[in-house]
Amino acid sequence: MGPGPANVHPQVLDALSKPTLGHLDPQFIELMDEIKSLLKYTFKTESEHTFVLSGPGSLGMEACLVNLVEPGSKVIVCVAGYFANRMTQIVSKLGGHVVVVKDDWGRAVDPQKLESALKNNPDTKVVAFVHAETSTGALSNIKLLSEIAHKSGALSIADVVTSLGAVDVYVDDWQLDAVYSCSQKGLACVAGMSPVSFSERAVHFVKNRKTQVQSWFNDLILLGSYWNGPGKRAYHHTAPSNHYYGLHEALMILKDEGIENAWKRHRENSTRLISKLKSQLGLEPIVPDGERIPHLLAIKVPEGIDEAKVRSELLAKHNLEIGAGLGELAGKVWRIGLMGYNSNEKLVDFCVNSLKDVLKK
Ligand SMILES: *Cc1c(COP(=O)(O)O)cnc(C)c1O
Repeated sequence: MGPGPANVHPQVLDALSKPTLGHLDPQFIELMDEIKSLLKYTFKTESEHTFVLSGPGSLGMEACLVNLVEPGSKVIVCVAGYFANRMTQIVSKLGGHVVVVKDDWGRAVDPQKLESALKNNPDTKVVAFVHAETSTGALSNIKLLSEIAHKSGALSIADVVTSLGAVDVYVDDWQLDAVYSCSQKGLACVAGMSPVSFSERAVHFVKNRKTQVQSWFNDLILLGSYWNGPGKRAYHHTAPSNHYYGLHEALMILKDEGIENAWKRHRENSTRLISKLKSQLGLEPIVPDGERIPHLLAIKVPEGIDEAKVRSELLAKHNLEIGAGLGELAGKVWRIGLMGYNSNEKLVDFCVNSLKDVLKK
């Protein structure tokens, strides 16, 4: 019950063990088409440039940036935590000119700061931000951030790694140009796959770049030749087909529940956890109400408590893993996740009772 990976749905574990198919087997191509259509449902997009990368969420981050950032081009990154900071590192490696819009760890991105940064940097080509900043527990209004980016003619890139499947994400309505996620958080699957989606605007940009995409593996056009269109699939890399079975199953489970119902379930269990932590243990989330990721709570460690010792006791005695603080929040918070299959009342109560037992000691 940390920041991911979360427990995997048993049906997904079953699906992973089915006989392996080749990456160009007709049945596997059919499965890829189904994954694409399930991902369009999950991302709330009609874009055909929606598919899966064979790697973790960080590969998706790199794919979005490497396709949309040219050497020398100006990129604003809204940084209020660890993962947004990773975006700045990638942009630097690509030779982009990074402008950081900084907010405090534990708060959402301030849209006004982005607006004034764009006023000072009208030549900005891309604005990148994180929806659910897993390192701090804060959720930003990316619909608004994307709107502000577009007003200045920039493309928007959104990290929806922790939000997808657990909290509202509307890729088309919010006009996000490039989004990436992972398989092991809200989707209740194993790690190692990164769903991505690109808008027509983004693809148009990539096709008209002045310079080559600085990656072979992540070149959107090459990936498209493997993923797009019946009958014209070309070998790109050997897709880890068993992993794709797992993702397919996870997405089917999500669709059967109904994604809106899944969002609601995540909100309700979060409310239950917050209220029990508060009333039974006096523990509080650090992120203000209205800016909080429902399914990943950064909880303030009480004065005088050795936070690492509590986590190791939880693991040893209750077989419960929760997350530590990261970066600026190291030692100051615990991060408790209620993601995907783990978002249920039973685990909320188990978590509260286990914490109660360990803290009493
Ligand atoms: C987990 C996470 C990532 C990185 O995903 P990996 O699968 O670990 O590579 C990126 N961004 C956010 C917001 C995350 O929570």
